[in-house]
Amino acid sequence: MYAEVIVDISHEKLDRPFTYRIPESLASVIEEGSFVDIPFGAGNKVIGGYVIRIKDDTDYDKGKIKDIIGIAKGSVKADSILIKLASFIRKTYGSTQINALKTVMPVKKTVKREVRKRVIALMDKDRLEFLANEAGKKHRNAQERLLRELIKYPDMSYSFITGKMNVSAQTINALVKTGSIKIEEETVYRNPVKIDNPKDISVSLSDEQQIIVDDVNKDLENGERNTYLIHGITGSGKTEVYMRLIEDRINEGKQAILLIPEIALTYQNLMRFYARFGDRVSVIHSKMTAGERYDQYLKVKEGKVDIMIGPRSALFTPFENLGIVVIDEEHESSYKADNMPKYHAREVAAKLCELTNSVLVLGSATPSLESYYKAKNGEYKLYRLNNRLTGNTLPNVYVEDMRAELKDGNKSVFSRRLKKLIEERLNKHEQIMLFLNRRGISGFVSCRECGEVVKCPHCDVSLSYHRDGTLKCHYCGYETPFSNICSKCGSDKVRGFKAGTQMIEDFVRKEFPHALTLRMDADSTKKEEDYESILSRFSNREADILIGTQMIVKGHDFKGVTLVGILAADMALNAEDYRAGERAFQQLVQAGGRAGRGENAGEVVIQTYQPDHYAVIHAKNQDYDAFYEEEISYRRELMYPPVGNLLGIQITGDEEKRVVKLSKVIADMIDKLPFREDIGKIGPANATLSKKCDIYRRVIYIKSLSYENLISVKDYIETETEKFNLTRESVMFDFNPMNGF
Ligand code: ADP
Ligand code: ZN
Ligand code: ZN
Repeated sequence: MYAEVIVDISHEKLDRPFTYRIPESLASVIEEGSFVDIPFGAGNKVIGGYVIRIKDDTDYDKGKIKDIIGIAKGSVKADSILIKLASFIRKTYGSTQINALKTVMPVKKTVKREVRKRVIALMDKDRLEFLANEAGKKHRNAQERLLRELIKYPDMSYSFITGKMNVSAQTINALVKTGSIKIEEETVYRNPVKIDNPKDISVSLSDEQQIIVDDVNKDLENGERNTYLIHGITGSGKTEVYMRLIEDRINEGKQAILLIPEIALTYQNLMRFYARFGDRVSVIHSKMTAGERYDQYLKVKEGKVDIMIGPRSALFTPFENLGIVVIDEEHESSYKADNMPKYHAREVAAKLCELTNSVLVLGSATPSLESYYKAKNGEYKLYRLNNRLTGNTLPNVYVEDMRAELKDGNKSVFSRRLKKLIEERLNKHEQIMLFLNRRGISGFVSCRECGEVVKCPHCDVSLSYHRDGTLKCHYCGYETPFSNICSKCGSDKVRGFKAGTQMIEDFVRKEFPHALTLRMDADSTKKEEDYESILSRFSNREADILIGTQMIVKGHDFKGVTLVGILAADMALNAEDYRAGERAFQQLVQAGGRAGRGENAGEVVIQTYQPDHYAVIHAKNQDYDAFYEEEISYRRELMYPPVGNLLGIQITGDEEKRVVKLSKVIADMIDKLPFREDIGKIGPANATLSKKCDIYRRVIYIKSLSYENLISVKDYIETETEKFNLTRESVMFDFNPMNGF
């Protein structure tokens, strides 16, 4: 028997299967997907690799074929579906096969199981009492302490005894030897979420909801497999529909994957699923330890889990019999991977559903242009949920022109309307959220004389001022003490602007000294608990005003909030890439959706210097369709996705001249392509962030109506640049990029 092995070295030249012999002794243990040790190259260095195919014969010279050494210790086998997904990812996004395989492997190595020990008394109370008295007489204090505790609690956790009770392992062992206690061990699953007796509130579906559920089930009965897009405002009952569809699949003996953006994986959101499905729900996210991840994987493998909830990587849960994949907030840019291979979870999910014959359900209040385009073309089935089920109506939205405010002498960060509405809310003891786009949060430092901005010497960004008197770079961590002397003009007028959210908090305190505020940004939420605790404190009405970045926008349901202020909508409008309008519209609508989720109607104030921008106007009217029409005609005109396709090529290196030269060489290659007339080329130009950690970055964008053309461009550039044996530069590809370079 022979095996085709993908070696664990990511290099274009080695990116093909290598053939090895499976020795007789290993024939029964090696399977497709096994991670094996193999001798590689002239020196027969031992490296690892995935077996992707097993076959009876080979065309290679049998005398030269080497033997597989064995299954690599502690390795985890790749499931066949995952191998197929990996090859899809490789083909669609451009990556080496080994990187694609590593991307889809939920856990790569086994992790030691966690063992929990218990100490159990083997004698009755009287006997323990006697032994305790004896120990007391002999001044064996620890022993006496333990025995007296065992009288009350004959079954205790070992770690509690050695920890809180401060009794040594020797003392415990001595008692084991006398036969008065025993130690019991059990393996446990490390569980990242603690459940405390949730109660499920069962609802009967509205007509709108029921139609969706019935339709999906009918299609399944008819053996039709479709993708469904649910376009429903926040609070319109999408999650309830997901749960019903998932429940139906579970009743058929199948499993479900639910993707939620990481930032929305909050206790509040997860509890609904625990309440409905109990401990057959599992969660993975990036903050989990390797052990926790491994245990979730084992639970899946052992059939103890029906639903996996998580961000994009949850897609790679190796279920036996997958029935449905749901992607909530499907427009979220975090569904696109930010490292190579830059896959999009929506597209990979579609492939996964095709391979496993599962249903794909997408949901959003502001669907991505991609999905809506497909729905309009009949590729997806489209459903609308138009009503908020909690009874209240959509908020009133005001757009405030900040140019006019300035002209009328208002220099505050608050427009007059927002200020008045905040005062009103404070008087009525209702809550307020103030939202600042992330691009506006980092404070910067500049000279008031000459305008010079203090920048990081390693990156093309301004340094931000921190409270401890230092200047820091967000990208590389560079740090330098603050000085008020300008390096350009020599004045002593260098001043720092506080990070946006801090500045807003100071403003709020000055203008509304009696308001209690909470602030949520990268600084105040270093740990996960901070994040949850800020949310729960606000939810418990321990503060009047929550000030924050995107973080506060995502799917949190605060019943007390009746006013949302979006302080600088322009920050999102003015980003350079073609998705800026879409992103701005989504953020404005989603932020607005936070207002009035409880009994009282809500109001939203959007402050902007561009009140006539189409994203602002349509967000004010909460009119998705109007926004879509305007946006799609612009995309159509310029052949941008989803109408056309875009390939981003990023050229990076440590010396500016060389990077510029290489990007020119690549641009020339593209110009000589036989199908040059069918593609458009933009650049080469500096990336938005033209230097990061001393690495220079240039970009070229290729547009084409055909995705295949873009793959050909990528393959061609890859093959050609391989001949250069680049060591100081590298070339990266991003298909239909979400965030630009
Ligand atoms: P979305 O996911 O669209 O934001 P949810 O499913 O979270 O909407 O529903 C919003 C609120 O309405 C939740 O509190 C939910 O329990 C409630 N809800 C959903 N469906 C129904 C229904 N059919 N009847 C009554 N309440 C419902
Ligand atoms: Zn830097
Ligand atoms: Zn200066």
